[in-house]
Amino acid sequence: MRVLVSGGAGYIGSHTVVHLVAAGHDVVIVDSFANSKPAVIGRLEALTGRHLPVHAFDLTDRDKTERLFGDESFDAVVHFAGLKAVGESARIPLDYYENNLDATFSLVRAMRRHGVKLLVFSSSATVYGEQAPLPYREDYAPLQSSSPYGRTKVMIEQVLTDVAAADPSMRFALLRYFNPVGTHPSGTIGEDPQDIPNNLMPFLAQVAVGRRDKLIVFGDDYPTDDGTCERDYIHVEDLAAGHVAALGRLTTTNSPVSVWNLGTGRGTSVLELVHAFERAVGRELPYEIGPRRPGDLPRSWADPGRAHAELGWSTTKSVDDMCADTWRWQSANPMGYEG
Ligand code: NAD
Repeated sequence: MRVLVSGGAGYIGSHTVVHLVAAGHDVVIVDSFANSKPAVIGRLEALTGRHLPVHAFDLTDRDKTERLFGDESFDAVVHFAGLKAVGESARIPLDYYENNLDATFSLVRAMRRHGVKLLVFSSSATVYGEQAPLPYREDYAPLQSSSPYGRTKVMIEQVLTDVAAADPSMRFALLRYFNPVGTHPSGTIGEDPQDIPNNLMPFLAQVAVGRRDKLIVFGDDYPTDDGTCERDYIHVEDLAAGHVAALGRLTTTNSPVSVWNLGTGRGTSVLELVHAFERAVGRELPYEIGPRRPGDLPRSWADPGRAHAELGWSTTKSVDDMCADTWRWQSANPMGYEG
């Protein structure tokens, strides 16, 4: 299939591009580079051995989006483009609602106008909110989230569900990611936060490479085994493979909307991840226990059973793989793509 990958220069998008090409798809990337570097494209072309057409514009621009769909033809869209920092979304909510919703509106409008039926959307475990019982299952309702970022995901899931109800020939996959970490095993592409990392793994990697003094662990008095928060870390390579499987399933399913959790089904605590990263690096890393971070839930993990059954997909990589690959990328690229 000819697949348009929105946000294909970003962390998860770039890894998925490699998997889509390996699965035989033709990939076209659209990205504003608001949170990524053009240098990733050369690395992707080296990894895939393909020329990858790139359209550099902001998808909230409806005219440009419409023109792209007029000039080229696509069979499917994999939609990663969006702003994703939870804390920032509370400071500039309007930017988050505008960017994430408008980009989706303009993509889906262009898809409908040009007869493109298949869309895979990056949702998040954050839509389960604070009340859902563990493990999180796709049939849980009502969806809610404690941040403007998370609410953009809840809203987009609802919008896509409404669009599919009005036009049941559409096929939408809503993929609820748990905590993506790790990098391509080559160490040539990876996560390259533009600012202070918001997430544990890239922060740890920057401590290990000497860009940050120490890690602050946000609280060790949670009701968990070691007192630190537990998350369902999923290797980005497994996550990328999940997109290829979901796209394939959209071509055969009769359901206009499919929701799949992409997680391992296991929780790993902050301290367990720190110690796994220390094993990958081969030395101890400086960390300090600090106060809790507002909004953090003690524990979160997926029930990935539906994705196993319906996609024939499951995760293959361990927490040690996630750390070893991240360290390979970070040590070879201490300053990210521009290092
Ligand atoms: P990322 O920031 O690395 O990638 C997103 C890409 O989209 C960037 O390259 C950015 O430049 C681009 N972009 C943003 N707004 C755009 C717009 N209006 N037009 C064109 N391009 C635009 O983020 P990521 O970690 O790769 O996440 C990809 C998707 O997965 C996002 O939608 C994110 O919300 C979702 N997600 C991420 C995580 C995570 O922990 N990384 C977890 C759950 C869901």
